[in-house]
Amino acid sequence: MLAPSPPLNPIAARIKRQPERYGVSNSGAVLCSYCILSNMPLIEEHTKSYLSSGLVEADPSWFILSSDINSADPTLSCSFCANTIPITSEDQDANH
Ligand SMILES: [Zn+2]
Repeated sequence: MLAPSPPLNPIAARIKRQPERYGVSNSGAVLCSYCILSNMPLIEEHTKSYLSSGLVEADPSWFILSSDINSADPTLSCSFCANTIPITSEDQDANH
């Protein structure tokens, strides 16, 4: 009972550790790490819904299916806040 429950969505948990990544939801929406980290309860709720029924009735869906690094696309932007996803070189250390 005292142990914190692990996050349901491992992709969202990974983005929490690596905020330079962005997420993609099962409805195809690109979501920046800021929106993902600001909406963790919603992501958990939609992930739970997907795991129990196989679908998310909410639209847009916040069930994060995958994450990636933007290595080359200067026009890639978040579907939710419309901010540009910064280009990040995977091999480079944080340097700002
Ligand atoms: Zn965003």
